[in-house]
Amino acid sequence: MSAKKATLSGELKKYFGFSTFKGQQEQIIENLLEGKDIFVLMPTGGGKSLCYQLPALISEGTAIVVSPLIALMKNQVDAVNGLSSDDGIAHVLNSSLNKTQTKQVFDDIKSGKTKLLYVAPESLIKEDYLDFFKEVKISFFAIDEAHCISEWGHDFRPEYRNLKTIIDKIADVPVIALTATATPKVQDDIQKTLGMTNALVFKESFNRANLYYEVRPKVNIDREVVRFINQNKGKSGIIYCLSRRKVEELAQLLQVNGINALPYHAGLDQKVRVANQDKFLMEEADVIVATIAFGMGIDKPDVRFVIHYDFPKSLESYYQETGRAGRDGGEGYCLAFYDPKDIEKLEKFLAQKPVSEREIGLQLLNEVVGYAETSMSRRQYILYYFGETFDPVKGDGANMCDNASNPPKLKDATEDLKKVLKL
Ligand code: ADP
Ligand code: MG
Repeated sequence: MSAKKATLSGELKKYFGFSTFKGQQEQIIENLLEGKDIFVLMPTGGGKSLCYQLPALISEGTAIVVSPLIALMKNQVDAVNGLSSDDGIAHVLNSSLNKTQTKQVFDDIKSGKTKLLYVAPESLIKEDYLDFFKEVKISFFAIDEAHCISEWGHDFRPEYRNLKTIIDKIADVPVIALTATATPKVQDDIQKTLGMTNALVFKESFNRANLYYEVRPKVNIDREVVRFINQNKGKSGIIYCLSRRKVEELAQLLQVNGINALPYHAGLDQKVRVANQDKFLMEEADVIVATIAFGMGIDKPDVRFVIHYDFPKSLESYYQETGRAGRDGGEGYCLAFYDPKDIEKLEKFLAQKPVSEREIGLQLLNEVVGYAETSMSRRQYILYYFGETFDPVKGDGANMCDNASNPPKLKDATEDLKKVLKL
């Protein structure tokens, strides 16, 4: 690979129109271009894509980008193609392409035109394209959403497990893995599975200082939710429920109470689902009531509140879901309702699962309970969970949670802390 440091910011300006790098992007790119394996842990919206897109654009050959969702890949490819007047600078390769389209992709790669090739893991590990990839110049591999490798992550995909074997068969080039999931367990899993224990690790803080965290006991919840929304009239918000049935019921209840709310879950007709999502994005609906099916890849900057009607199954999911509030840096209120009985239900559900899955599930639930019941700074608790230390008095956003602004009782937090540190 070749590219000189002095020119990096010039290339940034040329391709993306940005004058400065965000966070550690520049160091990440420099090191990747020097041929090192890199591991990037950066919260959502941190600017991970650019860490592989820019080096791909200025390197010889094609970078192979592994990404889990076809819809997300298409968006990225369109965005990259929009950066240049040449067509075919980025492509998606998957089983939905017909023969002619696949040939076009292969021709563009061979001619050196294609700088970024997005592939779903299931396509790559099928070995269909192995012989082809072995013959062409690959600049590096980027594994986006790398937490999909880990059963401890919130979106485990078994196909990700086999990536290392196929990468080794294709080429001996650097690998950059990226994720917004930073629990030490997931990080460890990713590095081991991808054989990247010697990779350079770049980790940015996961603190979202503009978000306010509150946990309330689940009592009179429907009334509480209606009241909260009425106090925040006209603001954009997401309400997460665990079941589709609850999503439907709550959306109706809110509508009856004069709130402009729509349901979203995977059981809805595709057309309805897309229409509801679009109405929320276009501000025709204030509130979307949803299962976890909602949110992946959704970037609405001015979501002002995220309510957890039911507590999620892991603290990781909680962080990702609350993280959809306040993307623009403005107000973001995260209100979760907690009932130990809900946790018991989830435990019963886990009892039917295979042992390994059950054990992981129970451990994740324990951490959720710890968070819900803690009297220490919620921000400190979450950040410990991500392996970060946080000063609950002076840290950025220190007063932004119920326990900080309205301490429940004077209790020694040492026990709570010990629990977290054991993770
Ligand atoms: P992530 O994958 O980490 O969630 P993205 O790669 O989608 O984040 O980037 C989030 C946003 O930040 C995008 O809108 C992107 O254009 C923007 N961005 C990335 N790098 C820069 C930069 N150096 N300057 C300004 N904006 C940037
Ligand atoms: Mg991303």
